[in-house]
Amino acid sequence: MAAVERHTTPSRPRRAAGARPTLEAAGRRSTPQREAVYRYLAGVDHHPTAEEVYLAVKRRVPRVSLATVYTALEVLVRSGLASKLTYGDAAARYDVRTDAHSHARCLVCGRVRDLEIVPEAGWVRTLRTPGFEFTGFRFELIGRCATCRRG
Ligand SMILES: [Zn+2]
Ligand SMILES: [Zn+2]
Repeated sequence: MAAVERHTTPSRPRRAAGARPTLEAAGRRSTPQREAVYRYLAGVDHHPTAEEVYLAVKRRVPRVSLATVYTALEVLVRSGLASKLTYGDAAARYDVRTDAHSHARCLVCGRVRDLEIVPEAGWVRTLRTPGFEFTGFRFELIGRCATCRRG
């Protein structure tokens, strides 16, 4: 596949303001737990599961529960601050990036990380999809991550 645009500067969400302005605009409360979850998601280069977010956030906010983390993640998704990536029966993963980017998903450990490549829209528009009108696309490479290749 030749038609791939390369983006070298990933635009991470602005972290300084945190989640508060968007949460409040969406009519939802900003809580220390929700901010901690958002900041963790915005600071990692992969897309963790709720469990992984919980284990990381617990180090900073010791009294947080897994249920609180699940709720915080759902609130972030419903407020447009994160998206939920689902893979059949496997645990969902969470992504705060809203700019065009692609994913590399490891078939062994399930880890999903960002790739700074996006198929060229012109090339995508040439695809024939009889009976289906597509309004967008996601590009995902699947394979084995560096850790799993060593193992
Ligand atoms: Zn892996
Ligand atoms: Zn992503």
